[in-house]
Amino acid sequence: MTTGQATTRSELFDAHDDPSSPESTANATWSRMLEGNSRFAAGTPEHPWQDRETRESLIDGQHPDAAVLACSDSRVPPEIIFDQGLGNMFTVRTAGQIIDDAVIASLEYAVTHLHVSLLVVLGHEHCGAVAGAVEELDELAASTGIDLNAADGDAMQPASGVDNAITGNATADAILNANSGMPIDATGGEDDPFDQLETLVTEAESVILRSVGASVLSAREAELTDHDDFERVHIARTIETLVDRSSIIQYALAEQRLSIVGARYRLTDGKVEVLSF
Ligand SMILES: [Zn+2]
Repeated sequence: MTTGQATTRSELFDAHDDPSSPESTANATWSRMLEGNSRFAAGTPEHPWQDRETRESLIDGQHPDAAVLACSDSRVPPEIIFDQGLGNMFTVRTAGQIIDDAVIASLEYAVTHLHVSLLVVLGHEHCGAVAGAVEELDELAASTGIDLNAADGDAMQPASGVDNAITGNATADAILNANSGMPIDATGGEDDPFDQLETLVTEAESVILRSVGASVLSAREAELTDHDDFERVHIARTIETLVDRSSIIQYALAEQRLSIVGARYRLTDGKVEVLSF
């Protein structure tokens, strides 16, 4: 697979039409998207496939290689940050990339009818939905007298002057553990404030709290304390929920017709960090 505008639409269709290698198509598609993101982040986007010829070639049908579930944030339009064009990506966007029945049906359409081989779940830095969920969770904890700080122990001490950047495997492990629901600090028991909060979050009226708040809570349970990690955990949990709720996606994964990748876009430098593939 060549890069950028050197790749013609027909080359893309050829790759897509090869039924023997959905995985290699997914890899090539993701490489092409990351190359586009590098161009975008460097300030040298090519704006490929946005011309009249491309538009006319797509009148009778679309053959996107990727489906993207992303946040609605106005600063994170997938076609722009991956420097792609018409017909490249089937995109679904909700605040905080929250999943509901309509989102699942849309992504299942992309898998079943458009035969996308790649599904990207894209979160981002400074996500307002995550920040809102953190606030709502804190308010819920405070209103019920649950002391999250006490539950978190040392990890919840003020982090002023502490470098919160992701620091290799320790943080990565914590994110994985938060995602798998494994107890890190296995206090357990009926009095565990996390268990109480978990029940309240599950039954909350607020959609943000039920979805993103649940991610933030499992991140805090894994002793993660900064928003960057909350966002990463939420992306991982979104993938988990999606697979859990869609048998069509489960079958596509089992038959190796589909790959899922989690990614997080950084507003600061314009780059997309890969969380899993
Ligand atoms: Zn967002």
